[in-house]
Amino acid sequence: MPFSTLGLSDPLLRAIADAGYTTPSPIQLQAIPAVLNGHDLLAAAQTGTGKTAGFALPILHRISQKSYGNNRPVRVLILTPTRELAAQVGESVGKYGAHLHPRLKTEVVFGGVKINPQMMRLRGGVDVLVATPGRLLDLISQNAVKLDKVETLVLDEADRMLDMGFIRDIRKIIALLPKKRQNLLFSATFSEDIRKLTTGLLVNPVKIEVAPRNTAAELVEQIAYLVNKTNKAELLCHLIKENNWQQILVFTTTKHGANRLTERLNKVNIKAAAIHGNKSQGARTSALAGFKAGEIRVLVATDVAARGIDIALLPHVVNFELPRAPEDYVHRIGRTGRAGEEGQAISLVSHDEYPFLRLIEKLIGKNISREQIAGFEASEIAPPEPPKPARSPRPGRPSNHSRPTSSNQPKSRPRTNAGA
Ligand code: AMP
Repeated sequence: MPFSTLGLSDPLLRAIADAGYTTPSPIQLQAIPAVLNGHDLLAAAQTGTGKTAGFALPILHRISQKSYGNNRPVRVLILTPTRELAAQVGESVGKYGAHLHPRLKTEVVFGGVKINPQMMRLRGGVDVLVATPGRLLDLISQNAVKLDKVETLVLDEADRMLDMGFIRDIRKIIALLPKKRQNLLFSATFSEDIRKLTTGLLVNPVKIEVAPRNTAAELVEQIAYLVNKTNKAELLCHLIKENNWQQILVFTTTKHGANRLTERLNKVNIKAAAIHGNKSQGARTSALAGFKAGEIRVLVATDVAARGIDIALLPHVVNFELPRAPEDYVHRIGRTGRAGEEGQAISLVSHDEYPFLRLIEKLIGKNISREQIAGFEASEIAPPEPPKPARSPRPGRPSNHSRPTSSNQPKSRPRTNAGA
């Protein structure tokens, strides 16, 4: 079904064509008509599903039907957990609204940067405000913004906002909104806390569930290279150069590890930048922009800093270290293989990380092909220890780490099967 059948106005359809989208994603097919009809929405969807366009397009359609002239009250409030996601949502809303007349004004506000410039930007009024909860409350307390004309509230990545302790802030903000309004809630997971929040918030919501988290993982070719810890950086350089990878997102578990790896890559002329919590907002934004523009080849990130980062069609994600929480693996690799494109998720796995590899496989319900690169073979490929010692280990159990390599192995790459 093409976008033109969903009831969106021509300026929005033009923006969709500009973005190069030809068919609506599953969440867009369901969300756009529901939001256009004024329904509340409860959507189980994570980044990568096209959820931003799923809410932004119909919202823009609705608010562009009525103009407030120069007196611009905030009519759409979008709350997000992180600065990065706020910035990206703001960018998307601007992009989708580019052909609307009169033009709508969108502003993005988040903490960690000076508040004064944000206050100045809000002065002339804005139609769509994208905000992180804490900074929004600061701005409200300084009388920089009023929320009494909000028609639509969007809670994006609601589960992360709760994880990050924003529940009280969110409740305070909701209390300032008009009683009658449209509410859209997006969340990847539905904990008890989310359920509590939605009960008081949503009225007869249309419920949408798209592709459970793991399907993104199915589009992605996943390989674990078994390697000694001390050889990981060198192996990464080798893989990048040998395969001529151009845009690589690399995950490390620590900020320090991210810095060290970035230095190492730059030393061998692989242009890299790190983004993590210790970097200033300016440094993070410019690293991300440089990466998107192709000036920076490798972006090294920690999980927290990478949350919500959206780079269309990212071809390679590398786990320099496996995440300790298997859910983070799914989040990480969800950044590649988007919109039907094939992606590759490479994990560099040292002996001590085998238990984490097994936990990940359990979660995704799929075995990850274990391989080795000639010259970088792991010295220890003993059977992995289970994460929690089994009560009665069966002696003589065959090791299960030496599985045949997957068939989609590019011929040019010299790889050897683990343990073969
Ligand atoms: P989101 O889940 O909103 O973060 O979107 C994920 C990515 O998919 C973004 O890079 C969008 O630009 C892209 N996208 C959204 N809708 C479509 C579509 N209908 N066709 C192709 N790409 C899309």
